[in-house]
Amino acid sequence: MLARTQLHDPAPPPARDLAVAEIRTTIVDVPTVRTHKLSQTSVTAQSYVIVRLRLGNGVEGIGEAATLGGPRWSEESVEGIKAVIDAYLAPALLGHKADRFVAAGERLDAAAKRNNAAKAAIETALFDAVGRTLGLPVAALLGGAVRASFPVLWTLASGDPDQEIAEAEAKLDARLHRSFKIKIGAQAPEADLARLARLSRALVDRAQLIVDANQAWDEATARRCLPRLTDLGIALVEQPLPAWNVAGMGRLRTRDDIPPLLADECVFTSHDMLAVAQDAAADAVSLKLVKHGGLVGLRKVAAVAEAAGIGLYGGCLLESSVGAAAHLQAFAGLRDLAWGCEHFGPQILTDDLVTEPLRFRDFAVHLPEGPGLGVTLDPDKLRHYARS
Ligand SMILES: [Mg+2]
Repeated sequence: MLARTQLHDPAPPPARDLAVAEIRTTIVDVPTVRTHKLSQTSVTAQSYVIVRLRLGNGVEGIGEAATLGGPRWSEESVEGIKAVIDAYLAPALLGHKADRFVAAGERLDAAAKRNNAAKAAIETALFDAVGRTLGLPVAALLGGAVRASFPVLWTLASGDPDQEIAEAEAKLDARLHRSFKIKIGAQAPEADLARLARLSRALVDRAQLIVDANQAWDEATARRCLPRLTDLGIALVEQPLPAWNVAGMGRLRTRDDIPPLLADECVFTSHDMLAVAQDAAADAVSLKLVKHGGLVGLRKVAAVAEAAGIGLYGGCLLESSVGAAAHLQAFAGLRDLAWGCEHFGPQILTDDLVTEPLRFRDFAVHLPEGPGLGVTLDPDKLRHYARS
């Protein structure tokens, strides 16, 4: 009698040693195509920590922590993220099984308080490695995808309205973006209002316009300026007040002459989301891995928002295709992503870190196919942009 292997000659099953064997971190700096100005900083290159996590079966997963101009958008910097992962987070996971995502989260929380971007990068690498081992996309590990593409906006943040109108026209012509987020707060409110009036006159009939103040205004300024944004046709205003002033956002929302408000810097944890819901302080929330500490945390924040009737928006911190793919895998399973997403990060970089960048077409970014995150790190690019 023939042995079964002689009849079928099956491929060997994937090695299932899912223990975390090695975690390596690399800081990379990738130039941007233009200066990106926010209320608190201005960047000409994006810095990331790339995490490579190898399992006992030899499969490698990747993750990314993005920052914006050092520890200015939040308290984390690439230098700090790398140090925290190397000294505290990586040792907490070595030898433990990669598919125990919730247990891994508990270990990471015990090893370090907050440090959410660092935790998100390492948790993303766990999901990627497990997905690659099982031949499943990360979205499948999170409950399965309900969408394969996402409306994606573009951010206008040079501060020069002539340049910004030309930039928006080019994006409309190329059918890449028809929703634009305008960064304000780097100059006085009256100057921003004049700039917004010009952008609105040029674009509002053909595009959706959103404004992000990145916490720049106090409550009195917001009370004065927000009705004027309604007159300019602005569809949504992100984080007009400082992150601590959730009650103030709630007071603004009692007025009927202001645009809907989007919570960003005031919502890191699911507890923050609950506080915003209790104060009725936002119409929508911007979901970001760097804030929520990973994919599991992002889904928890989204669940609290959904329970409170607060809309979901797929936020970014100018991630490369690695971080953007991780977000898309998480967003793919949300039933209602009412406000679309903003993962244009790969397009503002002069180069990308993966072998096949994300696809942007017909005003949408498309969920990459294949196991894990669906993107593969290019080792030459990693070496080229690695900080020496
Ligand atoms: Mg924001």
